[in-house]
This record gives sequence, structure tokens and C-alpha cells, in this order.
Amino acid sequence: MTTRLGRVTLVGAGPGSADLLTVRGLRALERADVIVADRLGARPVLDELGLDTPVIDVGKLPGHHAVPQERINALLVELALEGKHVVRLKGGDPYVFGRGGEELAACRDAGIPVDVVPGVTSAVSVPAIAGIPLTHRGLATAFSVVSGHDQLGEVGGGRDHTVVLLMGVGTLGHSAHVLARGARGADCPVAVIEDGYGEHQRVTIGTLGTIVAQAAQRRVRNPAVIVVGDVVTLSPYAPEELSARKAEAL
Ligand code: SAH
Repeated sequence: MTTRLGRVTLVGAGPGSADLLTVRGLRALERADVIVADRLGARPVLDELGLDTPVIDVGKLPGHHAVPQERINALLVELALEGKHVVRLKGGDPYVFGRGGEELAACRDAGIPVDVVPGVTSAVSVPAIAGIPLTHRGLATAFSVVSGHDQLGEVGGGRDHTVVLLMGVGTLGHSAHVLARGARGADCPVAVIEDGYGEHQRVTIGTLGTIVAQAAQRRVRNPAVIVVGDVVTLSPYAPEELSARKAEAL
């Protein structure tokens, strides 16, 4: 008896709400034999959909690497070699700080057919909840998405170049310091949006000079998206003294 070769579909789950999953992603999930899921983004979507398909949870809590990346790669290959159609459900978009490229390469190296369904990245969709567009005529012409673990010194531009920080809560103090020292300055607006689309969604707005104290006082926690730049003044959550600047700039 020969077993048929399975396949792997990497699916972006979006930021954690089933109605922000793509239709293509939903179809892949409905056809899956097994789902290998992250915690952030993917878990709430699966809970909402209530499918009967078996789910293997490989979710990582910050600081707790539940299942090492190499093990996840090997698991995808093993399941596909058993003839299964595996959906690897990842938070946001698989290719934005998601290690999707590594999972794709591992499957390809093992000769497993693999494809990717993009997802709505938190980098764009979580600021949207707080009414923050990443570019806006007169306020910002570009944006960069960076990880809080990376060197921020290399992010160019000023306040008209929006910086979006993912995984940035733990390193907020350092990031704010580095960005304030550059062209943006200490009074550059900053928004921290926690648990976007979740039960504990909350928006905190200040400046590079004040945000660290505000975040400590409000006990800001992961997951959160941090937005730095003049576009933050467009948010209805922005305090009056910041929104007044928007009128000046436009
Ligand atoms: N691939 C994902 C990002 C993975 S990195 C994507 O495209 O969205 C994990 C980081 O994403 C978290 O530390 C946080 O900064 C951000 N994040 C993901 N979902 C979020 C949500 N619902 N609310 C706030 N931040 C979120």
C-alpha cells in the first residue's frame, strides 16, 4: 500500500477575529485534516469557527517557547508525509515576523507541496482600531514595521515616517529613548494598542517622552502594537493637546 503525499497550507489568521480571516483561509481550514495553530491570533479564530478538525497547539507565550521552531517544522513535514492536508494557522500574516518563510522552506526541502494564504497583519489592522492610518496625506508618506528586539537606530525619517513596533512592550523604554534621540524628538506622538480585537483591547496615547511612564502606570501588556509618528494625532483617543497639532500640520 502506498500512502498519498499530503500537503501543507500556511494560513494567516489575521489579528484574532474570525471575520478578519480571508475567505481563502477559511476554505483551507474547512478542508484540513489537521490544524497546527499558534496561540496569538489563531486560537480565538478557531474558537469562533468551532470546526471539528483536530488542532495541535504549538502556541508560544512570550518568553515561553512551548514548541521550538525546528520541532514545528518537523511536525508539519511528518503530518504531510502521513498523507494529511495540514493547515498551519499563524497569527496575522505568516510572512510578517511569523517565521512563515522558514516553515515553507522546511516543507519544500522535504518535497512536500506547500502554499501560503496571506493574512491581515496586526501591523496595519491593530492601529486601525485606534483610528490610526499608517500613511495620511500631509502627515505620513511611509511606514516601517520593526520588531522591538531589533536595532531601531537604523529606521530613517522623522515623524512623517511612521514606525510600527511589534513585540515591543518589553523593550518600549529602550525604543522610546532611541527614537526620541533621533529626528522624531521626545514630543513625537506614540500610541500603544493592546489586545487588538480582543476582550482587553485598550489604547494608550502619549509621546516618546511620556509613554514609558504611562505604560508602567497602566500596566500595559503584550500583545500590543506600538505606533510612533504624527499619524497618531488622528486618533479619537488622542488627548486634546496632541490632536491640536494635527490641525497645525494639515
Ligand atoms: N505575524 C503576525 C505578527 C507576529 S509577531 C502579524 O502579521 O500580525 C507578534 C506580535 O504581533 C505581538 O507581539 C504584537 O506586537 C503583535 N500582535 C499580533 N496580534 C495582535 C493583536 N491582536 N493585538 C495587539 N498586538 C498584536
